[in-house]
Order: sequence, then C-alpha cells, then structure tokens
Amino acid sequence: MDNTDRGTGQSMIRLSGVGKTYPDGTVAVHDLDLEVAAGELVVLVGPSGCGKSTTLKMINRLIEPTTGTIEIDGKDVTRSDPVKLRRGIGYVIQQIGLFPHQRVITNVMTVPLLYGEPRSVARQRARELLELVGLDPAEYAERYPAQLSGGQQQRVGVARALAANPPVLLMDEPFGAVDPIVRVRLQDEFLRLQSELGKTVVMVTHDIDEAVRMGDRVAVFATGGRLAQYGTPSELLGHPADDFVEDFVGATKGLRRLTVTMIDAGHLEPIDGVSAGDLSSTVDVTATLEEALAAMLRDDRGMVGVKDGARFVGVLTPNGIHKALRASLAEGAGAA
Ligand code: ADP
Ligand code: MG
Repeated sequence: MDNTDRGTGQSMIRLSGVGKTYPDGTVAVHDLDLEVAAGELVVLVGPSGCGKSTTLKMINRLIEPTTGTIEIDGKDVTRSDPVKLRRGIGYVIQQIGLFPHQRVITNVMTVPLLYGEPRSVARQRARELLELVGLDPAEYAERYPAQLSGGQQQRVGVARALAANPPVLLMDEPFGAVDPIVRVRLQDEFLRLQSELGKTVVMVTHDIDEAVRMGDRVAVFATGGRLAQYGTPSELLGHPADDFVEDFVGATKGLRRLTVTMIDAGHLEPIDGVSAGDLSSTVDVTATLEEALAAMLRDDRGMVGVKDGARFVGVLTPNGIHKALRASLAEGAGAA
C-alpha cells in the first residue's frame, strides 16, 4: 500500500491554534495546529480522553472551540451556517446511530431527503450507495438494522454518511464495535472505497495498528489534548518524536515491520540440499517478510523457497526472518 501523501497538496482542512476547554475546566484540546490536504486520509490516534473526539466535533461544529480557527476550503467554519456546513461533511460514529425503526434504505435516504432531493432520486442514490459498500440492495434494502450483523450495520452507517456526497468525511472510531476479523475487513473495504472516492477523511481511533494501516498521515495525541507528532506512518515508526510516541507506536513495532520489510538475499540460506520440488511453498524475492511468513506457515517444515522470476535464489527459514527483522529494526533506530 502506498502510504505517501495521496492528497493534491491543497489544504482542505486547517486547524490553527485550536483549543477547547469545557465549562468544568477540562482542557480537552490544547493549541492544536493541523492541516489535512484534499483527498488525504488523516488518522487521529491516542489514548482515551486525549481530545480526539472533541477535535473531530469541532470540525463539524457539534462543539465550538474556545480558541483558534478552523477552516474548510479556506472558509472559517465558525462563520458558516452549521446546517450548510454539515451538508458537506459526512459523519460516521462507532455507535452507528442508525434509526432502528426504519428500514436500511430509509436510513440511507435520510440526509438527501432532508436536503430536498425528490424521493425517487434519493432512493436510487441509496441503492447505489448500498451497492458501493458491499450490501446487495435486493437483499438488504428492506431489512431493519437489527436484522444485520455489526459489520453490515457499520457499512450502512458509511453509506448514509456518503449519501449527500460530501467532500469531507469525519469518522469517530468507526470500526470500534466489531470483532477484530470483521474490523480488518471493514478497514480494507474502506481503503478500497476511499481509493475510488478520494474524500478528505479525518478518522479517530485508539488503535495504533489501525492508524498506521489506514492513514496517509497520522496525528498522535497525548493526554491533555497535545499533538505529540504528525507524520506519515513510516515517519512515526522510524522517527518517533519523543518517548511518548515511541512507547505508543513501539508496542508491536517489530511485528509491524514485517509488513514493510522486503526479503533480503543476505538472509536466505543456500538452496543446496533442498531440491526445489521439496518446497511446498514459494514466494517471489519481491515479497514482504509478512508474505514470506504466511507462506512459511503453509509448509510442514517451516521454510519457504524464494524465487527471482523462475530461478530459485534460496530458502528462507524462521531464523532468516528473525535476522531480517532485527536488521530492519536496527536500521530504523539508526535512522532516528
Ligand atoms: P477522546 O475522544 O480522545 O477519548 P474526548 O475528546 O472525548 O477524548 O475527551 C477529551 C477530554 O474532555 C476528556 O478528559 C473528557 O473527559 C473531557 N470531556 C469530553 N466531553 C466533555 C464535556 N462535555 N464536558 C466536560 N469534559 C468533557
Ligand atoms: Mg472519543
């Protein structure tokens, strides 16, 4: 996956010196500067209570900042009509917020109807959106939310948020309520959708794996609503700005490098003694360590043949993966 800036470079959302102190004195967000480029997927990540949801809700004016300015497309949101503003911003939340007594199709039609679309247009658009998020309208349109799985309900929530075709999408822990396997599938689906739609997305999660997986850029928040670091996933992993970020991204950093480290010929063992026919699993030399490990798990003896085109170049064993990961970690530390 390409984690480099997919945006156009033009800033779509700009927070400058934004702060939020709640009436009881809680400082939820402190002096926040953050820019999101058009078409970019930015993830806000950090421990519970560090101001992620507050930040998101200030962007669509569900909460008013106490200091600073927020611009969308160069316009100060505090001077925009909140109803018009929210029309251009889709909002997806963990609790999904589907109307339980309305059918799936009606849930998705809500927003376009609200803005005066004719019923037939809204219905057609809703059917297209259900299709887009992988729910066959013939099967699901007339069901009630309770007749869907958690993952399916979440897809309806995404379809509803996209219904007014907003350029900006805000998502607050959108995959938080589903089990880990469904969660990864929903993440992949959303990334595929986003590669087609190119929305400007700000997404909140407390899960650093999700953040690194999904974000073009990731903003790591620390307690007290302080932005600890803002950068691409590889910048965060390779050059954590301070101990807090290091700890936060570090927990499973070694394993995460499996997905970004390529096989290195120096970590292979020679092919001698093993005939190519003995190897039930092979990968190409351009594979990642993660792909090699997956292939290794399919082999009874725990080794995988590595090919460069049609030619065998060696055998990768668990020991080779260990060496490659250690080298990759040392490289990352050296660069930082
Ligand atoms: P996160 O989404 O990162 O978990 P929040 O933005 O929801 O964090 O909250 C940030 C801080 O603000 C927390 O300490 C939370 O308890 C506090 N907070 C959130 N909403 C309110 C509120 N309406 N009144 C007072 N404090 C609040
Ligand atoms: Mg929150």
